[in-house]
Amino acid sequence: MNPLSKLQNPQLLQAAQIKKPSASKTHFAVHNPATDAVIAQVPNAKPQDALAAIASANSAWGPWRTQPARVRGDILRRWFDLLLAHQDDLARIMTAENGKPLVEALAEVHYAASFVQWYAEEAKRVYGEVLTASARSQRMLVFKQPIGVCAAITPWNFPLAMITRKVAPALAAGCPVVLKPAELTPLSALAAAQLAYQAGVPREVLHIITSTDAKGVGQALCASETVRHLSFTGSTAVGRILMAQCAPTVKKLALELGGNAPFIVFDDADLDSVVKGAMAAKFRNAGQACNAANRFYAQAGIYDAFTARLSAEVAKLQVGDGFAQGVQIGPLIEAAASKKIKAHVQDAKKLGAQVATGGKALADLGPNFYQPTVLTNVTSDMLCTREETFGPLAPVVRFETEAEAIALANNTEFGLAAYFFSRDISRVWRVAEAIESGMVGVNGGTLSNEHTPFGGIKQSGLGREGGHYGLAEYLEEKLVALGDL
Ligand code: ADP
Repeated sequence: MNPLSKLQNPQLLQAAQIKKPSASKTHFAVHNPATDAVIAQVPNAKPQDALAAIASANSAWGPWRTQPARVRGDILRRWFDLLLAHQDDLARIMTAENGKPLVEALAEVHYAASFVQWYAEEAKRVYGEVLTASARSQRMLVFKQPIGVCAAITPWNFPLAMITRKVAPALAAGCPVVLKPAELTPLSALAAAQLAYQAGVPREVLHIITSTDAKGVGQALCASETVRHLSFTGSTAVGRILMAQCAPTVKKLALELGGNAPFIVFDDADLDSVVKGAMAAKFRNAGQACNAANRFYAQAGIYDAFTARLSAEVAKLQVGDGFAQGVQIGPLIEAAASKKIKAHVQDAKKLGAQVATGGKALADLGPNFYQPTVLTNVTSDMLCTREETFGPLAPVVRFETEAEAIALANNTEFGLAAYFFSRDISRVWRVAEAIESGMVGVNGGTLSNEHTPFGGIKQSGLGREGGHYGLAEYLEEKLVALGDL
């Protein structure tokens, strides 16, 4: 049975699908990763559809930005209310297209809505400045103005939150948005946009371009002189391409790219808190998060106790269809994802790692299921410590000293998230300062909120999303030097 047949408000998707046929007049299929069954068809847009959307957004920019900020804020507030009113349907759509357990999908709906709520409030808190002047007859003013038409490209792992995290601050600032969601999970984006229109966002101000031609649409968005900002969440490989494509038009960029988050357990850590943190940092969304812990480092004195406790917890995780009661780990998004985790486990075993729990695909459940896995005796030459696995795999490396742990953690071109556990306050300061990443979780396994800056350093990206940092992305500062007063 198609899980989408149970929506309380089927209009949420139907209206989005029949809206504006694409230039090619073709559609593409969306699959349920738990079964590989087709659950919907959406318009397959061409690059010229993206160009038309950019032109439409540009024509709507003036009216949208000149509205009082409070009006934009009120519209966003209504969007927030509608997202919550439709939370069950939105969660169902998300589980159907992404596979994550329904409880996690519901949590993401709330997380996604929290950005809309936050930026509804922030819209009216965009303040300019009056600076001191260097001459008596002068005054120096700084205006904050919306940057212009914004493009956004989003991934499949958080199909709703990645939409609102970009769209809400852009709309609040006064910018229209043309957004291309991941082709694997376009339905959450379409449903969210449907509710945005219902809330009062003009259709010209928010365009969702669903397409299997990611490259062509991406090129059109990057090459456009009208588009002044590109916000991308996805792999570092694609981020590099987009950055190069945006160079000729000198676009402002926000890039939230890959990670390879270390999770360090010092001898003095509280083991209960470590295990709880590890489960949260590693196994949410079956490990398919850019800030997921990718490689674990446990100090020699706690290594055995930590790996034993972690393995026992991981072995208890229930794997299955995200709609089934009690399931904690859903399917991976597609066949390529399970292939990668298999390759990482095989490579580690070949180089001497041991499987403490898991280590196998679960073909009887469906094509994309893999057992949550813990590997011990892992060393830094193994692929799973160097590449982002993006799956439910926890490889644990042993270390001796703090300096060694810091060096291991920083030995990567990535710098998105890091986690460490210690009860020694001096060590907490030292390590938090020494770790090279945009976000550090200390004695906890979660990092992201609507009001705090999310983003990376090194090759994990540019810019920050969330809080006032996220709004600043969509604003330009203009100096107005008033003379001869
Ligand atoms: P992932 O490996 O997590 O799927 P990707 O970086 O491949 O990450 O995809 C993230 C988003 O980038 C998706 O919306 C995808 O369609 C889009 N994308 C992939 N390749 C390109 C490209 N060459 N140009 C523009 N967008 C792309």
